[in-house]
Amino acid sequence: MTPQAEFMAGAKRRAMSLAGRVCLLVAGLIVAVAVVFSAVIWTAWKDESRGHVEVVGGEIARALGPRMAESLASGDRDRLGRLLNTLKDGTGLVWADVRTPAGATVMRLTSPAAPARALAAAPLATPNTPGVFVGRDAYVVVAPLRKDGATVGYLRVSFDRKTIDDIRAGRFAEVWLIVLAMIAIAAPVTLFAVSRIMAPLRTLTEFAQSLTEDDLGRRLTVRSGDEFETLAEAFNRMMGRLDSAMQRMRKLAYVDPITELPNAERFQMELQSVVEGAKQGEQMGALVVLALDRLPRLADTLGQEAAQELLALAGQRLAAAVRIADRTVRLADAGEKPSLAARISNMEFAVIAPSLASPSDAARLAQVAASALSQPVGWRGHRISFGCTVGAAMLPRDGEDADTALRHARLALNAARGEQRPMRFFTRSLDNDAHARLALEREMRDALERSEFRAFFQPKVNLLSGKITGAEALARWTRPDGSLVSPAVFIPAAEENGLIDAISESILRDACWKAAAWSREGFHAHVAVNISALQFNDERFAQKILRTLEQAGLDCGLLELEVTESVAMKNLDRVTALIEPLRARGVRFAIDDFGTGHSSLAALTRLPFDLLKIDQQFIRGLAEDKHAPAIVETILAMAASVNFDTVAEGVETEEQAAFLRLRGCSVGQGYLYGPALAPADFLALLRRSAGGAAEWPQGRLGVA
Ligand code: C2E
Ligand code: MG
Ligand code: MG
Repeated sequence: MTPQAEFMAGAKRRAMSLAGRVCLLVAGLIVAVAVVFSAVIWTAWKDESRGHVEVVGGEIARALGPRMAESLASGDRDRLGRLLNTLKDGTGLVWADVRTPAGATVMRLTSPAAPARALAAAPLATPNTPGVFVGRDAYVVVAPLRKDGATVGYLRVSFDRKTIDDIRAGRFAEVWLIVLAMIAIAAPVTLFAVSRIMAPLRTLTEFAQSLTEDDLGRRLTVRSGDEFETLAEAFNRMMGRLDSAMQRMRKLAYVDPITELPNAERFQMELQSVVEGAKQGEQMGALVVLALDRLPRLADTLGQEAAQELLALAGQRLAAAVRIADRTVRLADAGEKPSLAARISNMEFAVIAPSLASPSDAARLAQVAASALSQPVGWRGHRISFGCTVGAAMLPRDGEDADTALRHARLALNAARGEQRPMRFFTRSLDNDAHARLALEREMRDALERSEFRAFFQPKVNLLSGKITGAEALARWTRPDGSLVSPAVFIPAAEENGLIDAISESILRDACWKAAAWSREGFHAHVAVNISALQFNDERFAQKILRTLEQAGLDCGLLELEVTESVAMKNLDRVTALIEPLRARGVRFAIDDFGTGHSSLAALTRLPFDLLKIDQQFIRGLAEDKHAPAIVETILAMAASVNFDTVAEGVETEEQAAFLRLRGCSVGQGYLYGPALAPADFLALLRRSAGGAAEWPQGRLGVA
């Protein structure tokens, strides 16, 4: 999960917003204040009822006390009675009396409005000492009546407790109502204020929740002028940084750093979406894969840095060409999805055209793209061309998914390479061929395990003496059913699937062991073994061969290794270095199929080789092609001048042998002397020739 997604998930997880929680807090505070307030009022009220009675009692004592004391002292009972009667209508009054200091009741007043309950409790509440007394149902005020500094009696006034409490409760309810009204007004005002204050925070939260990875560029506007605005600005800055970091990451993930074109990852996604689109829609698409064939060599010659610069140039050219092709070939308008050019591997580019009117448009688009890459580019004063081969596939016809489409376009590319054509479209037969190759590879692996690849030996004959000088070991695959498979079929396949090493090793071993056996019988015949291009990739090439020679017990001087002209000339320096240890031990090297690689004769002198095998096409042509004799003569003369021994391949007639013998060719090989023979047959031939039994057209055969 991205940090942003986590943040948003966190925001969603919270059940209550901050504003909600503040409102809850404020509401809680209000309730708490109300509760505390009530408790305080309640306590105060309870005390206040007693205080009220004290006050009322005090007022009565002040108003009536002196006069009552006087009346009591003077014994004026009438006046005392009148004064006592003034209390009759006092609120909550139950009774009042005047007593002597000794406690005898002088006079008593009972209120007609006094509740029976209070009167019943009255005898209990008859204290004699001054003060306020709280009984179960009554408050009793006892006030001393003093005259000239002496207490002449007591006035006792009893109030009904419930009546007094109810009056106070009414007051309390009033206060409560006022408080409630204040809460009722304050609560919504407070909530409104809180929600106003929190509004920017809500905006911020909603904005954060609504953000997705694709719109990190959006900005938030908060103009509150407070910390929220600062927070929003900080948030915007943070999102800006996140956005550019995401863009950088996307670029790293989907853009090729050298060419700045979409990379293989992005290409794969685009291809899948175009294939899906093409499957659903009616329009076809095309995939074109372009390989820069010369790039690895350019990298070897000019260095990696230069190769990268050239690649960048090639990428720019391709992108420009694709834009042009969109307008001129696809006739795509502004609303249509443009074609995509991408770099999909070290030396491969690809173009995806999402919609095309016809396969011929695909061919034209491929042409435009290919010619953009084939044109030489100017680079540091040089004109350099990449050499481009193209494979194309139509979508969705040639691939129901991205992988298949790409595999098919690459199959077409490889086929174009094999046929040395600049461009090829995928066809079903290519796929069939690929499957057949896979099946062949499986068969070859099994055949290797069962040692079905064996060396056959074709005699090489000294053209002057007619004696066998040696043999070329040619690989033969004998299937379990006895049928023979030609090396023309399995050698190229083995080179392609990497089995060539194992096959070559088994042929080399076979050839060395057989030649060693011939030697032990006294036939010191040379054995020539073919070396494939891939074997030169192995640094331990010489070591492996020397070990085989040693294990077989064959004299190094009896082994010849044949390297085709094209392989030798292509990797001249590497081949020279790799064969050096073998030449030092006496192994001889031959240039095979000479004349097919078109290398200049002068280049020959640079090869540290010993033998030159003239390709059979020139020998075959001796009778039919008027130029062939001159070519063969020139090759022979030139080989003599650089001290190369010569072997003519494919000698089939005595006329050819005679021509070659006259021009100084030393050795001949061909059906005239025999095809490649099974080891036992070749040994039999050696024995026969040693015994003088083998007949060649020009005479008897011997062993050199
Ligand atoms: P190559 O090395 O040039 O071998 C000569 C080919 O010419 C052989 O074909 C041989 O049978 C054929 N040939 C010989 N004399 C005549 C003739 O008078 N007329 C005609 N028309 N053909 C003749 P083969 O055996 O089919 O081998 C084909 C190629 O396969 C060889 O060409 C060689 O390049 C390759 N090859 C064979 N064995 C091996 C091997 O063990 N390792 C590697 N790397 N390549 C091998
Ligand atoms: Mg050969
Ligand atoms: Mg050859």
